[in-house]
Amino acid sequence: MAIPIPSRQLFINGDWAEPLLKKRIPIINPTTEEIIGDIPAATAEDVDVAVQAARSALTRNKGKDWAFASGAVRAKYLRAIAAKDDVIGCFEYYADLAEGLDAKQKAPISLPMKTFKSYVIREPIGVVALIVPWNYPLLMATWKVAPALAAGCAAILKPSELASVTCLELGEVCREVDLPAGVLNILPGLGPEAGASLASHPHVDKISFTGSTVTAVKIMTAAAQRVKPVTLELGGKGPIVVFEDVDIDKAVEWTIFGCFYTNGQICSATSRLIVHESIAAEFLDRLVKWSENIKISDPLEEGCKLGPIVSSGQYEKVMNFISNAKGEGATILYGGNRPKHLKKGFFVEPTIITDVTTSMQIWREEVFGPVLCVKTFTTEEEAIELANDTHYGLGGAVVSKDRERCDRVSKLLQNGAVWVNCSQPCFCQAPFGGTKWSGFGRELGEWGLESYLSVKQVTEYVSDEQWGWYQPPKQ
Ligand code: NAD
Repeated sequence: MAIPIPSRQLFINGDWAEPLLKKRIPIINPTTEEIIGDIPAATAEDVDVAVQAARSALTRNKGKDWAFASGAVRAKYLRAIAAKDDVIGCFEYYADLAEGLDAKQKAPISLPMKTFKSYVIREPIGVVALIVPWNYPLLMATWKVAPALAAGCAAILKPSELASVTCLELGEVCREVDLPAGVLNILPGLGPEAGASLASHPHVDKISFTGSTVTAVKIMTAAAQRVKPVTLELGGKGPIVVFEDVDIDKAVEWTIFGCFYTNGQICSATSRLIVHESIAAEFLDRLVKWSENIKISDPLEEGCKLGPIVSSGQYEKVMNFISNAKGEGATILYGGNRPKHLKKGFFVEPTIITDVTTSMQIWREEVFGPVLCVKTFTTEEEAIELANDTHYGLGGAVVSKDRERCDRVSKLLQNGAVWVNCSQPCFCQAPFGGTKWSGFGRELGEWGLESYLSVKQVTEYVSDEQWGWYQPPKQ
């Protein structure tokens, strides 16, 4: 079934605008490998126009239209967007927080001296650049757009060149709800062109980035030149630790969900299975049987549970990881190939790799595909050591019927999110983010809002007395 792809331009200052250099990027359907449309590609020239639009949006009508409007005013727009959009929950949640912000303004600070009074106001950081990846494109964008707008920032969203279509549709929604012009601008384009220009732009006040660790280093370097704050949500190589007391089928399902859901293209995927040796043989046997049952097809087909990898480049990367693992002496227990029934498209079978050592690439590096590697353990200490044996620290999971053990392990896992007896569920009320190479700062929840706010103290001298530090001049 052909899906009509709307032909869009860049979204700048409340309206569609052709890229100044008229560049466009083709959209390739990863299922059919055919070109099905194209997207506009912003360059440094368009970034300048969009940043100017965002700055004006902040200061228009002395800021009363947006940055200094009450949170309740901004909440109305967020709710109007939610009413038309697919990522409703997140917009509605931040509409609530925008309203809550009004009550928190001018919160008094208790001081040790009665001669002073102090309060705190929370202000939008300013113009923010929101750079997002291709997996969950509209959701990753919403995790940034909703809190940024709730805070009163003006934003420039840079979707991935591999998945911009849904983000561009958000532009149409903004037009329909009459969001003040320039508050949200949407600039698809190539990373080194649109992305890099945004990251280094002198009038962008903050960068919130989700993507690979390699790109994060470039963004941080650009931001450092202007002492610009960054929030970084990066890659992962998450562990799922399975103890001997589990219900095997339940644990197996969470294990495959944790690694094969959306084809393993999840930053928080728990792609390293660490299973107790006493149940390993039976567990792996069931894991293979459940994996055989996964329907691999065009994602538009009813019942599809595993679709194609996003692009040919990413497909090649995943296949290279599998062949390197073989080359290094690991065993491909299941999968590892293109599914036989699919001749076209960037499909990879769900893949389970055993006989893995901790020095192998497959243990150390993020694959971002449906590839699970397995190690066994005997003691809890050994399990924790293996789980933390990674530069990354995004999501981790522990599966056991022993509550106390789950609490102990949760504390010791070096991850920003720990799932107990599950893997991956994510709620917009709870903070999300990583440690180590997985980045810093938190999205979602009240932490997501804080990252777009600047805190200002206002301190007043309230005594009738002279301050008295200097000698008064003789009359
Ligand atoms: P990527 O780093 O290649 O690209 C991410 C975004 O950065 C894209 O919009 C891209 O155009 C842009 N970009 C590329 N080069 C740039 C540059 N020099 N300056 C500025 N912007 C630039 O990542 P990707 O391949 O799109 O996404 C996959 C990665 O994202 C994985 O590593 C994954 O783990 C990570 N990810 C993390 C999270 C999280 O919340 N932690 C969520 C999803 C994805």
